[in-house]
Amino acid sequence: MKRLLIFLMLSAFAFSLHAQSVKSELPKPNKQQGLKTDGIVQPYLSDFLELCKKYDIDFHEKLFKLKEIAVVDSLQVNTKGGTLGLLVRDENKEVEKIIFSWMTLLDKEILKVVAFHEFGHYFLGYKHTCGDCNVIMAEVNSSYFDIVKDWESQVEKLFLESPEYNKNKNVNYYVEN
Ligand SMILES: [Zn+2]
Repeated sequence: MKRLLIFLMLSAFAFSLHAQSVKSELPKPNKQQGLKTDGIVQPYLSDFLELCKKYDIDFHEKLFKLKEIAVVDSLQVNTKGGTLGLLVRDENKEVEKIIFSWMTLLDKEILKVVAFHEFGHYFLGYKHTCGDCNVIMAEVNSSYFDIVKDWESQVEKLFLESPEYNKNKNVNYYVEN
């Protein structure tokens, strides 16, 4: 009995150490720019912005305009499903917040897909590319699993086919000719 107790205490200690190290690895929210980002979404935002750099898409101005990225419990849910993510606009129709339903927290992979979807709308200038199909920018995703399984190529497609990426390319093309 005593042994079991010590073992439990040790594993609790190890777990709390682990939790701490995970916490310190999280990128810090960008406080200078006044953007408040929910900690659970922050890693996906950081990944997404890294990819913007890789594909040479400028995100600074848009990031600067954003006030908040949050997980909320106010998005509508019904028996058929519900809204998992949304861009919230101010009275001038400018996006000021990106919000995610608490339902995305049920599975980290779902949150990842929904986060990239909403960031795709905002940073990459996307509208929905199709109704119900298995790409990140579909209006409805019937299988998050299929997207996650194919994540690397899904993300590559998301960036390469985005309006922002192709806008940059057209400008270069025009200048070169
Ligand atoms: Zn959408």
